[in-house]
Amino acid sequence: MSKKIVIVGAGVAGINAATKLVDNGYPGELITIIDMGKDPHKRLPSEVMTGMLGAGGWSDGKLTYHTAIGGQLKKYCGEDKAMELMDQVITNFKRFHPKPEEVQCSNPDAEPDFIKPYFGLRLFPVWHVGTDYLLEIAKNWYSYLVNNGVHFEWETKVYSIDFDSNFLRAKDKYNQEVRLSYDELIFGVGKSGIDFGKVLAEQYDLPTEPKSVQIGVRFEAPQHHFQKLIDVSYDFKLYRKFDDKGVSLRSFCTNNNAAYVAVEETYGNSTYNGHAKKDERYRNDMTNFGIIMELNGIEDPFTWSREVVKQLQSIDNKGLYYSPSRTPSFTSEGDHVEASQISDADMQTVRHIFEGYFNYIDEFIDDMKKVFPTLKDDWGIYIPEVKYLSPEPLVDYTNLALTKYPNVHFVGDALSARGITVSGAQGIYVAEDILKYN
Ligand SMILES: Cc1cc2nc3c(=O)[nH]c(=O)nc-3n(C[C@H](O)[C@H](O)[C@H](O)COP(=O)(O)OP(=O)(O)OC[C@H]3O[C@@H](n4cnc5c(N)ncnc54)[C@H](O)[C@@H]3O)c2cc1C
Repeated sequence: MSKKIVIVGAGVAGINAATKLVDNGYPGELITIIDMGKDPHKRLPSEVMTGMLGAGGWSDGKLTYHTAIGGQLKKYCGEDKAMELMDQVITNFKRFHPKPEEVQCSNPDAEPDFIKPYFGLRLFPVWHVGTDYLLEIAKNWYSYLVNNGVHFEWETKVYSIDFDSNFLRAKDKYNQEVRLSYDELIFGVGKSGIDFGKVLAEQYDLPTEPKSVQIGVRFEAPQHHFQKLIDVSYDFKLYRKFDDKGVSLRSFCTNNNAAYVAVEETYGNSTYNGHAKKDERYRNDMTNFGIIMELNGIEDPFTWSREVVKQLQSIDNKGLYYSPSRTPSFTSEGDHVEASQISDADMQTVRHIFEGYFNYIDEFIDDMKKVFPTLKDDWGIYIPEVKYLSPEPLVDYTNLALTKYPNVHFVGDALSARGITVSGAQGIYVAEDILKYN
């Protein structure tokens, strides 16, 4: 066990990888984790995407437990192994949770008749950690790794990696150059580092796998309109498919009770997401979820989504909010969610920018009004919500290493994941492979 391991990104994937390694006796002193964000004692609530546990450290803490959710995992390792890896991630979150007994699993089992004519409902178990506990979990987890000798470089941004000579360059918060060499590199930069991943893919001409476009809006309304469905499935996922058109839609990442819409900064543009708090004092009795379209057959999906998002921001240089009757809600800190409220006339521009695909979202909302009759005009949408699926580098499925560079492993959202459990599982999968040969 003498290989020097560098992990770029102290996100869910990187932290689970390091934990698997030290849990199995790998010397922590040989592991360095480098992150542009802050340690959990310094990280601010506004730093949604960076720092200890990455985006997962300030998420809504819902650990999905199904291979159909959260991106690719079973593609690499098969169904049974994927479930076993996800179990390990959930165990880690419970292990560092200050009140593990509060981590509950919701597991709906029947599709209710009233939604059937219009929507399918995807049913799967979810473990609820609670956003408010994530910081405590992050602190406990951090202590565990530090106590086991793992070295962290915080507030240090990696800006170049030489895959041929096995070293990377970064700048710390004082703008000082940091250089690190590695034997094995785990690249887990999440969504906040997706542009860096893309630069590397182009620089090294990495072969990629084809991807679809995933774009839509964050829908928000008072919770009581959806209560009948929430009683069946807390984190419900409605879906519709138009196979002949290569389009499918799903509601994504549902938050209830204390549900807040969050602005996500990616590539300098504002997009939307949501999170839920557990503490009763944050209760606002709202529900929010993404309505995400998956569009197949668009030639360069990444560039297409980037272009749509950029054009939407050109209306007012920030994200947009449309509602027939409401104004943007408040964040948990008491400010309005940042968005420009737009009129019916502006919505025509939005529809134009989406090149006709917005009709599917309009229909989805119209059909929700039929299924949830009290909803009427009591809703709003934040535009856009987007899952940037950058071209996925082609990896060796046994250890997620680049086919051209077998000691460089891509993990988490930087590879093909879209969520905490799958990202963490990918980190553990790589660590298990490293342990096999060291
Ligand atoms: C508001 C919000 C709510 C969410 N809620 C949920 C949820 O409830 N359930 C769920 O499953 N998923 C949720 N997600 C998604 C989930 O958080 C991510 O899928 C997951 O965290 C991805 O893990 P990762 O390790 O790949 O990346 P991340 O957790 O994003 O970590 C990446 C890390 O890399 C660091 N980094 C990036 N670039 C560099 C660089 N160049 N140099 C150094 N460091 C760098 C970042 O600082 C960051 O800490 C949510 C996301 C957001 C934004």
